[in-house]
Amino acid sequence: MRLFDTLSRTDRDLRPTDGSTYRFYCCGPTVYGPAHIGNFRTFVLQDVLRRTLETSGTRTLHVRNITDVDDKTIRDSQKAGQSLTAFTTGWTEKFHADCEKLGLLPPHIEPGAVEHIPQQIAMIQTLVEKGNAYASDDGSVYFKISSFPGYGRLSRLDQRELDIGKTQNTRSNSDEYEKDSLSDFVLWKGRKPEDGDNFWPSPWGEGRPGWHLECSAMIREYLGDSFDLHSGGVDLVFPHHENEIAQSECACGGHFAAHWFHITHLLVDGGKMSKSLGNLYTLEDLAARGHSAMEVRYVLIGAHYRKPLNFTLDSLSAAREALAKLAKGARHLASKIDPDTRLTSADFGPFQAAWDSLNDDLNTPGALGGMFTGLREAANLTGSQAAAALAGFNRLLRALGLTLPQESTAAAIPDTIRALAETRWQARLAKNWAESDILRAELAAQGWLVKDGKDGYTLEPAANG
Ligand code: AMP
Ligand code: ZN
Repeated sequence: MRLFDTLSRTDRDLRPTDGSTYRFYCCGPTVYGPAHIGNFRTFVLQDVLRRTLETSGTRTLHVRNITDVDDKTIRDSQKAGQSLTAFTTGWTEKFHADCEKLGLLPPHIEPGAVEHIPQQIAMIQTLVEKGNAYASDDGSVYFKISSFPGYGRLSRLDQRELDIGKTQNTRSNSDEYEKDSLSDFVLWKGRKPEDGDNFWPSPWGEGRPGWHLECSAMIREYLGDSFDLHSGGVDLVFPHHENEIAQSECACGGHFAAHWFHITHLLVDGGKMSKSLGNLYTLEDLAARGHSAMEVRYVLIGAHYRKPLNFTLDSLSAAREALAKLAKGARHLASKIDPDTRLTSADFGPFQAAWDSLNDDLNTPGALGGMFTGLREAANLTGSQAAAALAGFNRLLRALGLTLPQESTAAAIPDTIRALAETRWQARLAKNWAESDILRAELAAQGWLVKDGKDGYTLEPAANG
């Protein structure tokens, strides 16, 4: 498989450097609220990468952390009147439930930052001893970017930006900042009153780790000094991943990640998603509009990961139709197989082009297109040829992590019925019970039962209806 590498700006082969297991790390969620569909674009594409490797027979070791201590988790746990642990545990559970709905394979190791404070302190100590970090009089410790000649290579900082950061000797105590305020970044934050109970002892006094450090320390613990691939959304290229490289290469002396995989952001209606604009969607928001997590997954893999993905609600309806069409194609193929057909082939048959797309820089839209073309090509196959084609189809489906709707549910629901049900759900959300009841009766008259759940509804054909 070939994949674009952010550091070298070239497509490169993905092969386990140890010859057996592909070892990779993904920056995980900051657990201070529900993850949004932008976050899930990144997590789903990382999942497809892993599934593609595994489908081709490569064993993987997938590590993804939980950021459970930072400015945002501390601030919002206090607002919620909960301990940091209780607060982040609740949001981690919610994240796991969402991941399961989206068909994300759980990482093999999922370490949390709070559980790895000693490893983080040890790494800072090494950096201070080697002259890459210094303590300041506010009880914080900073990484000295001028001590690492490779600083800026990943994000291609230009000389002007580097000069600003290295010569002005400024430092930043906040975890997030822009390139034009390049500076020495914080490894350990001295305790402040607003941190409440959230501080730990260290050789530099009480405080807590800076955000960039946790990944370096957990990678060292679980993957060692060098590993195969590191990944996150594009916003992490600078400063987060730039800082991780600096910390890890200075402390450990290895080559850190052999490959960098960054996913371009999801946009909503052509712009940034944000709570204040009212266009930030979670799985729950979309379920309340009657859309399944599988439809969301289909939309998220519908664009190439290096291109922005413009999310619209209409795209979810199109995804529903596409999934139904794939399900119908698979049923058609299955109907052409005799029960006693023995499967001999393990290749992709008519789905070879789709599989090739996936292996060529994780071209998921190409792979989806290839699924439909493959189904058309396979439509007239019978017996063992149909069986082999169906096996290829199913392998590809697993690589994309898609689960298809069953015949009795989404696939068979006519658009007019779905539109009625949608209007009814909106009436229900608006507590317009009278209208909602009328619409329920109308649906029943047309042979459809609506069952309401907490987050949405399901439609079923009424018995004998
Ligand atoms: P966070 O929970 O903010 O730490 O982010 C978790 C992951 O989601 C990181 O890899 C981010 O880079 C990624 N991410 C954040 N916003 C978006 C977005 N709009 N589109 C795609 N990925 C995103
Ligand atoms: Zn990270």
